[in-house]
Amino acid sequence: MAFQVTDVVDRKSDLWRTLHALPKIELHRHLEGSIRLETLVEVAQEHEISLPSYDPEGLRPYVQMTAQDSPDVITFLSKFDVLRRFFCSPQVIKRVVRECVEDAAADQIRYMELRFTPNALAKAKGYDLMEVVGWVCDTVREAEKANSIRVNLIVSMNRHESLEIGEKTLEVALAHREHGVVALDLAGKEPGFPARPFGHLFREAKRAGMGITIHASEWEGPENVRDAIENLRTDRIGHGVRSVEHSEIIKLVREKQVAFEVCPTSNIQTGVVGYLGHHPVLDLHYLDVPITINTDDPAIHGISLTDEYALAVQGLGMSMHDIHRIIIRAAEVSFLPDDERGQLINGLKRELGTSQYRGIWH
Ligand SMILES: [Zn+2]
Repeated sequence: MAFQVTDVVDRKSDLWRTLHALPKIELHRHLEGSIRLETLVEVAQEHEISLPSYDPEGLRPYVQMTAQDSPDVITFLSKFDVLRRFFCSPQVIKRVVRECVEDAAADQIRYMELRFTPNALAKAKGYDLMEVVGWVCDTVREAEKANSIRVNLIVSMNRHESLEIGEKTLEVALAHREHGVVALDLAGKEPGFPARPFGHLFREAKRAGMGITIHASEWEGPENVRDAIENLRTDRIGHGVRSVEHSEIIKLVREKQVAFEVCPTSNIQTGVVGYLGHHPVLDLHYLDVPITINTDDPAIHGISLTDEYALAVQGLGMSMHDIHRIIIRAAEVSFLPDDERGQLINGLKRELGTSQYRGIWH
């Protein structure tokens, strides 16, 4: 039985409404895992994509982790096999980007670093990676203007794919630095696919001034965090939750002030953490590891960022004060230029400081 956030979180509660109203920062959200169910149905009909169902509820189990699913990585990754077929025209890709930005703005996210894997968007129709990245960048800029949100982009490559794809991905990321691409990410299957062969690509990106974030210590042990810090010179870690098993690595993370992008529901649904009460986010927080809370793949996990904050409070024992700190921390470790980052932090401090709710859950 896969965990559902609504098992713990009541979306009609005062707490949920309070958290929804807070200004938020999202640092770890994959575009490919952020497609609305209704959009999938419409795109499938329009482009005659053959599916087991054309009804949103009938399609849901194929693209979302439901209560009937087994909580493991194979089941989770199987959802992407279906989703990947939908990137069948530039219009669809642009629509998915636009709606993803709209959904984030509606959740009161003020600043988002949205990541996407150019090769995943290009593969279905053999599009040129450079063109695909251009479509995403242009659409993000348009969607920002239409919604109250600032968005930058992180380009991802997969560790289980070839170095050649990685090299091409770095090239297109560097070419779009003036168009909103601020960082490079290493994602994909962790077991059996070490990060090290990609090290020179990440060091090159770092030399060019890009931010670095590496998925590590999610499906494998804490040593991958050390590898990401020492060999890939990462600024942030995607997940990192298994670091709690290794005190030397916790020490290293604290010394280097490497922030973790923690995604609680994702970790439980993919079997990284056995059950909610075992999630180490609170331990990491009180060990002074700089953590942030994020969604990962909101459409697949059936969540919003508000849900994840509510889960942190109701299910994982965080206080409202902790949530405020985490929001400010997310702004502090964002890949914004210094002046913009400073403005964002000051704006958040002003808003959170005057929040009428501050103090209730202290
Ligand atoms: Zn991720």
